[in-house]
Amino acid sequence: MNKRLVILGAGESGTGSAILGKAQGWEVFVSDLGSIKEEYKAELDAEGIAWEEAKHSEELILSANEVVKSPGIPDKAPLIKKLHELGIPVISEIEFASRYTDAKLIAITGTNGKTTTTSLIYHLFEKAGLNAGLGGNIGKSFARQVARDKRDYYVLELSSFQLDGCYRCRFDAAVLCNITPDHLDRYEYKLENYIRSKFRITQNQGPNDLFVYCGDDALTMEWIGHFSIESKLIPYTIDSPHQIPGAWVEDGQIHITMNDNEENQFTMAIQELSLRGKHNAYNSMAAAVIANAFNIRKEVIRESLSDFQNVEHRLESLGKVKGIEFINDSKATNVNSSWYALESMDRPVVWIAGGVDKGNDYNLLKQLVKDKVRIIVCLGLDNRKIHEAFSRDVDMILNTTSMQEAVNVAYHMANKEEAVLLSPACASFDLFENYEDRGRQFKKYVKNL
Ligand code: ADP
Repeated sequence: MNKRLVILGAGESGTGSAILGKAQGWEVFVSDLGSIKEEYKAELDAEGIAWEEAKHSEELILSANEVVKSPGIPDKAPLIKKLHELGIPVISEIEFASRYTDAKLIAITGTNGKTTTTSLIYHLFEKAGLNAGLGGNIGKSFARQVARDKRDYYVLELSSFQLDGCYRCRFDAAVLCNITPDHLDRYEYKLENYIRSKFRITQNQGPNDLFVYCGDDALTMEWIGHFSIESKLIPYTIDSPHQIPGAWVEDGQIHITMNDNEENQFTMAIQELSLRGKHNAYNSMAAAVIANAFNIRKEVIRESLSDFQNVEHRLESLGKVKGIEFINDSKATNVNSSWYALESMDRPVVWIAGGVDKGNDYNLLKQLVKDKVRIIVCLGLDNRKIHEAFSRDVDMILNTTSMQEAVNVAYHMANKEEAVLLSPACASFDLFENYEDRGRQFKKYVKNL
């Protein structure tokens, strides 16, 4: 008899897992408590895969030999608890798909910078002519690609929720961009649990694998010693003393050395990077270390890092209107990412911020706001904390409750040669569907000016 695989959640990762499971001879059943998109239903039907929506039928689920759970479903959900009690393994799509491929896996995690770093690495691999796929949180699911679009390398963006469902999969190279408090509601409000989740990216790694991490990141450095990591450790740093192997910055140049052989050293001027800001220098260094380790030619690395076009909604410059530059950083949903956005500004800023705050500590931004921001335009239903935090640091704080109003107010208040930066430091769902909707509306109203 075929073994029974149950997939909980029929988004891109669930549908991909169902397709791969079927191809590998599992008897597959897909269950989603919400509604399933028409395109996924059509795919499941075409494959002859049974599914249900708007419910979880326990009799059909608890008979599973194994369960693939969408990263959106928390472990504390009653159904997941029941599966655990019954001893039925509950794994992530990444764990499942990794069983069925021999490709080299490059995994990227971190609180901020995952998408940018993952996209950079993929861009480098593509430019080098390597047969690579991009997956995880981005684009087509890893499982779907393993089933239908075989590659030699997969570059995977992994959230901590995906890592929580990883047990045996091993990454040939792992990148940890940084760790700052986020998503603590899913980790019993214990930062330690979230940190442990991020470090799962190194579990199962051996001496031939790489662990690339930011040597300037306080929590990474505080915790790295708590884990027995067997892979080769490669830190990248801008502010700390450097190590070999490692990457560092000296006199405006990035240096990467994987061994003591000077000839193999990679160098590139920070000026030449296409992405602005210190955070993006980190992301570029992480990507360059990976590319270097996979023997991509230095010229290709240099060229790729200087022609990479950033992903939408991440410090995306929309150009100037009457000398005022508009920048869309809608993806900045926490204080740390807005810190880096403000840090990268080289002119006075009219800062559009606010939304749903996940327990923000605005003190972390105080100095930067004093130095760089002239006016704050709040865009959210409850802006009290922003007023309390910054009323003495800027000329003016204004409240708005729609993107159109925020853009118009910012435009009228900004002077020539200033920047209007949307970098909310907050989630978007008080006024928008999600951060993409927020960013798209920003772009639309800027275009209309
Ligand atoms: P993620 O996929 O982890 O959410 P993104 O690359 O989409 O990360 O970037 C999210 C936000 O964080 C953006 O506002 C971006 O400007 C900022 N950011 C990007 N890289 C970093 C980094 N290394 N450190 C801190 N913030 C970053």
